[in-house]
Amino acid sequence: MAEMFHEDDADLAVIQSKTVAVIGYGSQGHAHALNLRDSGVNVVVGLREGSKSVAKAEEAGLTVKSVEDAVKEGDVVVILAPDQVQATLYKEQIEPNLRPGAALLFAHGFNIHYGYIKPAADHDVIMVAPKGPGHTVRREFEAGRGVPVLVCVEQDASGQAWPLVLSYAKAIGGLRAGAIKTTFREETETDLFGEQDVLCGGLSKLIQTGFEVLVEAGYQPEMAYFEVCHEMKLIVDLINEGGISKQRWSCSDTAEYGDYVSGPRVIGPEVKEHMKEVLKDIQDGTFAKRFMDDQAAGAPEFKKLRAEGEAHPIEAVGKQIRSLFSWSEEVDKDYTEGSV
Ligand code: NAD
Ligand code: MG
Ligand code: MG
Ligand code: MG
Ligand code: MG
Repeated sequence: MAEMFHEDDADLAVIQSKTVAVIGYGSQGHAHALNLRDSGVNVVVGLREGSKSVAKAEEAGLTVKSVEDAVKEGDVVVILAPDQVQATLYKEQIEPNLRPGAALLFAHGFNIHYGYIKPAADHDVIMVAPKGPGHTVRREFEAGRGVPVLVCVEQDASGQAWPLVLSYAKAIGGLRAGAIKTTFREETETDLFGEQDVLCGGLSKLIQTGFEVLVEAGYQPEMAYFEVCHEMKLIVDLINEGGISKQRWSCSDTAEYGDYVSGPRVIGPEVKEHMKEVLKDIQDGTFAKRFMDDQAAGAPEFKKLRAEGEAHPIEAVGKQIRSLFSWSEEVDKDYTEGSV
């Protein structure tokens, strides 16, 4: 069983005695900065000149500086820029300005695990990775609850990296829910596997393929959208609440029997073999290199694939169907459809 940490395992005073420089003010950045501030921690946000986030962070009452100046003040430097820019950002703006012995904190292990960032030996290298989007991390904290987090120590230069990582996790609300001890390697490889094989890649392709099969068989696209996409959330909510068993209990016996006899025909043994191939590419760095090389070239492959995804017929049908629901007016203020 995984080792877990709770509120009593951490001392808030550790992080309260330090200045924390949060670099980036996106999904995770805004949540970490605001939760730390509300936990009595001295926070400075580091952003690029001209970044749209400057106004947002200042409106929230945070101190904003250039990346260089924020780093200079940080006893703990939290790198929450997108994964693909972190290596250059580190080399050019963070590393030259780091205080001796400053701790480096990440929310995902990608750059450390694959060696794109190689910190000097005198820095603690630690991770607090919330198991949820930043907007949920902030919302739950404000509601007096927290999102579970993963905690790891890659490099314990100070000998105090564990008390520090746990104190930080507590300050962002993570210990209210609980922290799981893991490693940079395990976090990185399982995170990439989950999003590629199941949560993002697997699920998107499963929905699109189901939609294509129904439409190609002559059924109305609106019907196909409801059956293979809209109802997904209802099913996933049941799984979240009570596992696959609760989902099967709540569905009709017809649906449950169909699940048993047809699920294994769709996701057959060959799918498991393909998942293992994807895992191998994650473990040996093939995926990381492909992603980073494409990004370095201006992301031509990424942009082409994104455009193809947006052009899939299910997107147009879905947009029209979702406009029929009242909840569509409550879309996330930071997201506009068609502007991923
Ligand atoms: P994001 O894309 O939402 O935000 C990144 C922010 O970084 C931008 O808003 C901007 O303020 C800043 N930024 C962009 N380019 C920059 C540059 N060149 N220099 C300085 N600042 C720059 O990113 P995110 O999704 O919050 O991801 C941040 C980290 O958190 C990543 O390591 C990611 O893997 C990890 N993470 C994200 C989530 C999530 O739900 N989004 C969950 C767990 C972990
Ligand atoms: Mg993940
Ligand atoms: Mg991820
Ligand atoms: Mg149905
Ligand atoms: Mg049932």
